[in-house]
Amino acid sequence: MTVTHLVWFRNDLRITDNRALHTACQDMHAKVIAVYIATPEQWQQHDMAPRQAAFIQQNLDCLDASLAEKNIPLFSHQCADFAESVEWLSDFCQKNSVTDLFYNRQYELNERHRDDRVSELLQGKCTLHAFDDSLLLPPGSVVTGSGEMYKVFTPFRKSFLQRLTHSDTRCLPAPKPRADKAERPPIVSIDYPFEQPDPSLFPAGEDAALQRLRSFCRERVQDYQQQRDIPAIDGTSCLSPYLAIGVLSPRQCFNRLLAECPQALEDDQSGAFVWLNELVWREFYRHLLVAYPKLCRHKPFIAWTDNVRWSGDADHLAAWKAGKTGFPIVDAAMRQLNQTGWMHNRLRMIVASFLVKDLLINWRAGECYFMSQLLDGDLAANNGGWQWAASSGTDAAPYFRIFNPTTQGERFDKKGDFIRRWLPELADVPDSDIHHPHQWAIKQGRVLDYPEPLVDHAVARKQTLQAFEEAKRGA
Ligand code: FAD
Repeated sequence: MTVTHLVWFRNDLRITDNRALHTACQDMHAKVIAVYIATPEQWQQHDMAPRQAAFIQQNLDCLDASLAEKNIPLFSHQCADFAESVEWLSDFCQKNSVTDLFYNRQYELNERHRDDRVSELLQGKCTLHAFDDSLLLPPGSVVTGSGEMYKVFTPFRKSFLQRLTHSDTRCLPAPKPRADKAERPPIVSIDYPFEQPDPSLFPAGEDAALQRLRSFCRERVQDYQQQRDIPAIDGTSCLSPYLAIGVLSPRQCFNRLLAECPQALEDDQSGAFVWLNELVWREFYRHLLVAYPKLCRHKPFIAWTDNVRWSGDADHLAAWKAGKTGFPIVDAAMRQLNQTGWMHNRLRMIVASFLVKDLLINWRAGECYFMSQLLDGDLAANNGGWQWAASSGTDAAPYFRIFNPTTQGERFDKKGDFIRRWLPELADVPDSDIHHPHQWAIKQGRVLDYPEPLVDHAVARKQTLQAFEEAKRGA
C-alpha cells in the first residue's frame, strides 16, 4: 500500500529545521505532499495587518519554490475561517488517501481548538503527528518546583537555560529531494487587503532571513547590550517578522549565535547573552499563553486592572495612531510603525506606556492597533508587551511606574536623530530643543506645523495613578 504523508504548513513557512516536514520525509518510500490553508476572515477578526498577510503570501511563494526543488507539491487553498478549513482539510485527506498528517503545534487558543477538531474528524482515518517546533522548549516544560508556570521572567530564564539540552537546540536539515517528480499546483492568491511591505527592509524567504541572522550574529550582536535601546542605531536583529511566521526557527537563532559567540552562555553581560535573553522572552510569553489561556481572550492577568475607568477619548486615540500627539518620540515611533510595519522595542514600550498611562486609554485598543499594523504581529509577544506596559500582566511594570515620554526621548534619542528621520516638520529644530519643539518655536517667533502636546504629562500621571488606585481599592 502506498503511504501518503501530508505536511500541513501553518506558522512555519520554511523547509530547513522544520520538525514536521523533516519527520514526514524520513520514509523515502512514502509519497510526500504539503498543504497551506489561508483563512482571511479569521485573520481579519484578529486584526492581522495587511502587511503581514502580504508577507505570508510572499513567503508562501518562496516555500513553494523550495518544496518544488524537493519534488514536494504544495497545495494551497483559501477558506473563510478555521471551521471551514478543518472540513476542507478532512476532505482533502480523504481525496488524496492521506495516511499520515504532520504538523507543528500552534499554541493560541483558537488554533488549539481547530487542531482538536481536526483530530476528532480524522480519527481512525489517518495518523496525526504533532510537533513542538516554534519554541526551544515546549510550553509546560519549564515550571516551578510545585509544577506551576513561572510568573516572573528571571527565574523562568534561569530554569529555562538549565533545562535546555543539545537535542532541544539541534537544527534539522532540509529534506532530501524525493525520487518522483511531482506536478506543481498553482499557489493561492490570498484574498486579503494586501499592503506590500518594503522589500528592501524585509526581503522574503528563508535565505534572506538566514543571511540577516548570520550577519547580525557576526557583526552586531557583540554591541547589542550597548546599542539595543537606541532607535536611531541599527542595533537589533530585525528578525521578528521572520520568527513570527516561522520563516526562521529559534533553534537556528540559537545555533548561529553560539557558532559566532561560543561564550554566549557564560558571560551574562555580553551582547550575545542579552540577545539570547530576548529569545527567552519570546518563549516566556508563549509559555504564559498556554498556562493562562485567558490571555488569548485579551483578559488581564491582574484582574483588578479591569476596573480602571479608561478614557474613551476617540480624538486622543486617533492622534496616537496617526503620530500626532505632540510628543516627538511617540510620534516618530508611531510613524515608523505606520510606514514600515515594524517598531523598535524601546519605542514600543514608550508608545504603549503613553497610550495607557498618559492618555488613560484601554491597552486593548493599542494591542489591537499594533496587530493591525505590525509585520511581526504575534499574539503572545504583543499581548505580553501591552500587558507589561499597562501593568496588568505577569512580571509587569508596577502601575505607579510611569514613563515620562519626554525624558525617555532625551535618554534614548538624545540629539533627535531618530525623531528627525520620521518627523520632517521638526527638521530645523536644534538638538537641544528637539524634545520640546514648541518652546523653541515660541523663542524663535516661529509657528510649527506640528501639534501641541495632547496632555500635560505631570497632570496625566496624577490622574492615571488615581484611576489605578481607585480600581485597586474597588477590587
Ligand atoms: P531583537 O532585539 O533582535 O530580538 C530578537 C528576537 O527576540 C525578536 O525578533 C523577537 O522574536 C524576540 N523578542 C525580542 N524582544 C522580545 C520581547 N520583549 N517579547 C517577546 N519576544 C521578544 N514582538 C513580536 O515579535 N511581535 C509583536 O507583536 C510584538 N509586540 C510588542 C508590543 C509591545 C507593546 C512591546 C513592548 C513589545 C512587543 N514585541 C513584539 C517585542 C519586541 O518589541 C519585538 O520582538 C522586537 O522589537 C523585534 O525586533 P528585533 O527582531 O530587532 O528584536
